[in-house]
Amino acid sequence: LKSTLFWKMCCDLKRRFLLLYATQKGQAKAIAEEICVQAGARGFEADMHCISEMDKYNLEGEKDPVVIVISTTGTGDPPDTARKFVKKIQDKNLPRDHFAHLQYGLLGLGDSEYTFFCNGGKTVDRRLQELGAQHFYDTGLADDCVGLELVVDPWIDGLWLALKKVFLLQKEKEGMSNDVSAVSSTLSAAVCVGHELNLSSEIQNLKLEDEGDASSDVSSQKPVDINLLASSRDTEPSLVHSVPPISQAALNIPVLPPEYIEVQFQDTHGENPHPSILISEGTTFEVPVTKAVQLTREDAIKTALLLELDIANTAFDYQPGDAFCVICPNSVSEVEELLHILGLSERGECFVCVKVKEGTKKRGASRPQHIPERSTLKFILTWCLEIRAIPKKAFLRALVEYTSNAGEKRRLQELCSRQGNSDYTRFIRESNVCLLDLLHAFPSCKPSLNLLIEHLPKLQARFYSASSSNLYQPGKLSFVFNVVEFPACPTRPVSRKGVCTGWLAELVAPLLHPNKNTLNTKEGSPPTEEISIFARPNNTFHLPSDPSVPFVMVGPGTGIAPFIGFLQHRQKLREEHTDWHFGETWLFFGCRHHDRDYLFKQVHYLTFPVDELRCFLENGTLTHLKVCFSRDSSTAEGASPKYVQDVLRLYAKEVARVLLKDSGYFYVCGDKKHMADGVSDAVVDILSMEMEVDKLEAMKMLAMLRETKRYLQDVWS
Ligand code: FAD
Repeated sequence: LKSTLFWKMCCDLKRRFLLLYATQKGQAKAIAEEICVQAGARGFEADMHCISEMDKYNLEGEKDPVVIVISTTGTGDPPDTARKFVKKIQDKNLPRDHFAHLQYGLLGLGDSEYTFFCNGGKTVDRRLQELGAQHFYDTGLADDCVGLELVVDPWIDGLWLALKKVFLLQKEKEGMSNDVSAVSSTLSAAVCVGHELNLSSEIQNLKLEDEGDASSDVSSQKPVDINLLASSRDTEPSLVHSVPPISQAALNIPVLPPEYIEVQFQDTHGENPHPSILISEGTTFEVPVTKAVQLTREDAIKTALLLELDIANTAFDYQPGDAFCVICPNSVSEVEELLHILGLSERGECFVCVKVKEGTKKRGASRPQHIPERSTLKFILTWCLEIRAIPKKAFLRALVEYTSNAGEKRRLQELCSRQGNSDYTRFIRESNVCLLDLLHAFPSCKPSLNLLIEHLPKLQARFYSASSSNLYQPGKLSFVFNVVEFPACPTRPVSRKGVCTGWLAELVAPLLHPNKNTLNTKEGSPPTEEISIFARPNNTFHLPSDPSVPFVMVGPGTGIAPFIGFLQHRQKLREEHTDWHFGETWLFFGCRHHDRDYLFKQVHYLTFPVDELRCFLENGTLTHLKVCFSRDSSTAEGASPKYVQDVLRLYAKEVARVLLKDSGYFYVCGDKKHMADGVSDAVVDILSMEMEVDKLEAMKMLAMLRETKRYLQDVWS
């Protein structure tokens, strides 16, 4: 009776809440949309806006609860779309009770591979608290490294109960009825449990029973008798095969997201738009690739390439240390394969018109901004959609409806169900399964085109750090990358290359082995390829403005890239200003083998090999070069340090002097957080030893260095 009364009370309540999302790559937006869909199914009204649309909401006057989903970008920054908002709330003149009227719940997204995990969300959360806003629900911090859904799903589950409590308490305050408080206290007890982000199934079931809503968030799926994919001898679970208990469990699967896109084939012809029109982040530039150099030997474990771009005829500007974005397409063969599986091989060149489906139940449905209204099907699959993305549970749920085989259907249901969390993590997320892998594994699954557009995220441009100086090489922009390779595995019979690096490697292959001495002449030059780039705003990873300040650079592998730009810049300044005083410079570099992947040791610049690092050393631009090799035999025997952090420790006194006495800078760049953590641990040890303080004090010192932007990191995974 109590529960029936409770739900009746809830139905009478006003249920609008403001839902703000701040997204960089679309994940926060997708999660906000999921919240919006679930809200509708639960009788709430989510008033959803991008946090940048500040004319559409007013936090100062907001009376309803606010839900914020916010991701993190760069080195712990809020997404670009939140920059204006963050600036506004960080205004030091705002009074302490500025947001005292506000009740909010915040879900932060991040990646623990990066040092400042979820810092975008934490920054906003902290500031809202400082301004008097109150949590109506515990903050969730989701980690893309292990799977956002591990926190996101239970956080959303718990949100409804927390929201209901807010609305009930609001009513209570308005003096509604005594019954409410009875129900409210029952609910309060439940919320204590809900605070652990665990909604009791009793409450969920109550909703199902009382509201009789077939399209609600959970539906129990009885196991089917047949598991067509499994042979009776299979005892090991896999992507396509499950074992007890999950194969026999009743499943809670997510609500089916309403379809909202309509794709119409057209008879007309015409031209596709330029891929740069899909970029909202700023001006894009089409620039020719003027040089491609392989920096590693053929037998190196990873292939590193240096590309040089001609930016002379553009307004593109950069400083050493800046990164920029490269717009890249999906692999031609994967697009062909996808079209083949979908039975659309013949129609790839057909123009399609993408619209919002009439009468869709999805609230605020709009055509995704990264899909042109009119273009060929191939264009959409090649330039717009991240077809390699790991399918989210909502996508799996939607795919179930397009799968005819009962066994395959059941397995897809398992993988998107709550009971299948660990299978999802193991066989989808950790195996980096993409849509093509799924379609191969579940051959009776034939999704519609609109489903792909609805569920595949935007194909993102990739960031690269400039490895040149505009002062040293006017009109040129270079960058260095490893060609990413994913070996074949049980779920993927063929090996694959990274989307962007694989494409770039193929694009510049003809440039890599040019006829000797013809590279810089017009006649006989291989055809020039162009790529589209755009700038990455707001970077602090720059040389100290005062050239007399010393600095330390730590950049193993391709992490050396920005430091080549730093050194080129410094060399030019030294040539131009012979009367200036220049501080000392340290470079710590590491790679696997001295002879195979020691980048910039033997660069085939112009037409003859130059040891660029050696040149910097000889002309005094670089004062100290310290290198280590993790796989060379002398290292294996323990004679030499293996990693950059080990070498740093050997130079503890000098590093401490640069940082403490000479107020120098410390830069770390590279492709793994483990490296960055190893380096910061070494710096803490060095500071603790040289300052003769305990570790905690040394950590505070490092935090101060970070805060004052003297310890700077540019790390990617
Ligand atoms: P993707 O196809 O995007 O794959 C990359 C990652 O996806 C893998 O590492 C893996 O985690 C996952 N993945 C996808 N599919 C699979 C699969 N089938 N199996 C296993 N794992 C899979 N990189 C450089 O080389 N040089 C730079 O100077 C540089 N600078 C950067 C600066 C910044 C600020 C940032 C954020 C990144 C930088 N990067 C740099 C990284 C770069 O942006 C790309 O992420 C990298 O080149 C890989 O891109 P890709 O498209 O080739 O690989």
